[in-house]
Amino acid sequence: MDFKRVAVVGGGQMGAGIAQVAACAGHDVTLRDISDDFLNRARSTIGSSLGKFVEKGKLTEQAREAALSNLKFTTRMEECFGADLVVEAVPEDPALKTQILQELGKGCSAKTVLATNTSSISVTLLGRASGRAGSFIGIHFMNPVPLMKLVEIIRGYATSDETHRRALDFATRLGKSPVTVNDYPGFISNRILMPMLNEAAYALMEGVATKEAIDQVMTMGMNHPMGPLALADFIGLDTCLAIMETLHEGFGDTKYRPCPLLRNMVLAGHLGKKSGRGFYDYARG
Ligand code: NAD
Repeated sequence: MDFKRVAVVGGGQMGAGIAQVAACAGHDVTLRDISDDFLNRARSTIGSSLGKFVEKGKLTEQAREAALSNLKFTTRMEECFGADLVVEAVPEDPALKTQILQELGKGCSAKTVLATNTSSISVTLLGRASGRAGSFIGIHFMNPVPLMKLVEIIRGYATSDETHRRALDFATRLGKSPVTVNDYPGFISNRILMPMLNEAAYALMEGVATKEAIDQVMTMGMNHPMGPLALADFIGLDTCLAIMETLHEGFGDTKYRPCPLLRNMVLAGHLGKKSGRGFYDYARG
């Protein structure tokens, strides 16, 4: 098996999901986060997700046990250095990602392939920060990772053909359907999705309609499974804002300006589902 040992750095909603699907596919997975609290949250998210697959008859009890035994949780970055593939899934902050990738680039063996799950930041820039641009690539999973089939594979300017081929094989082994895109802000997924969510926030800010009405127009009228404001809450408003900032800066076009309401909500700590409050209130589940 290629990439037998996989490390995931950042155990939030995406990192926990990536660790889970890799463990289910038989990889030895090390999940790294900055504190035991975050790791416990990731462990319990993975446990309950696997439990639901078993309940629905989509996973055997034996396969669940095998997946759990493939997982290791740590706060120590050094434990990621021996991996064949490291997937970075820390928050969408270019400075933080640059720092983590520099550390991984220095610490990992020369054979290790490094990948980022960034939603929008330049893979070329992050690859350069890692010091191994040829063996660096974007592997952009969708949320929730265990359920969503699509993976965007983003080739940085200097990503080698071999790294690209191995990333495609890896995603396919996880049961995903990879699609290759080139490295421009927001790639395909968020270049198209995020301006729609941002526009929904503008419509709410301008009082065009209530949040429920905006979401209902898009679910009932456009057949979207979730309304844009509910989806923004699900993704995380901090992540949505960070992606809009990247699109705005990357294209230098005012059509991507982040909605001031979105910015205010992030400043207030109303980050959506993960903080208990965003456009909707999740405090009572
Ligand atoms: P999140 O806030 O849920 O999780 C981020 C995790 O990274 C947290 O657990 C945090 O403690 C951890 N972290 C912070 N600094 C760290 C460090 N130095 N070392 C290790 N861990 C650290 O965020 P998320 O939604 O999982 O997003 C992670 C990445 O995935 C972002 O780049 C985001 O843009 C991308 N992404 C998000 C979605 C989505 O729908 N949320 C979808 C696709 C891609």
